[in-house]
Amino acid sequence: MGNCVFCAIRKGEIPSAKVYEDKDFMIIKDINPQAKIHLLAIPHTHVPYLDMMTEEGVNLLGKILHKISKMQDQLGISDGYRIIINQGENGGQTVNHLHIHIMGGEKLKDM
Ligand code: 5GP
Ligand code: ZN
Repeated sequence: MGNCVFCAIRKGEIPSAKVYEDKDFMIIKDINPQAKIHLLAIPHTHVPYLDMMTEEGVNLLGKILHKISKMQDQLGISDGYRIIINQGENGGQTVNHLHIHIMGGEKLKDM
C-alpha cells in the first residue's frame, strides 16, 4: 500500500534483515531493537490495524503464533519471549501495517 514501510520491505524496495518468510508472512529484525532479540512478524497482506482484521486474517495471526512457537530455537528465543501487538494511538502503533513484536534473548523487564 502507498507509502507503507513494511510493504516496501516485502517488495525489496527497502532493505531489511529477514530471518524467515513463507507465503503468508515474514519475520524481520526490528531496526531499533528494544531487547537483545527483537523481531517483527509481518503478514504480507496490508491490513493497517488489528481491529480491521477479518476472521481469515485473525486465523492467520494464530498460524503465525504457532509458527513462532515451533521456530523458537531457530529464532534464539527458546528461553522465553514476549509477544506484543500495538493497536492504534494509545497502543503506540507507529507503522500502520499490522505486525507482531517478538522480544527475547534475555530476561525482559517487568511491564
Ligand atoms: P509499532 O510501534 O508500530 O508497533 O512498531 C513499529 C516497529 O517497526 C518499531 O519497533 C520500529 O523500530 C520498526 N521499524 C520502523 N521502520 C522500520 C524499518 O524500516 N525496518 C525495520 N526492520 N523496522 C522498522
Ligand atoms: Zn503495508
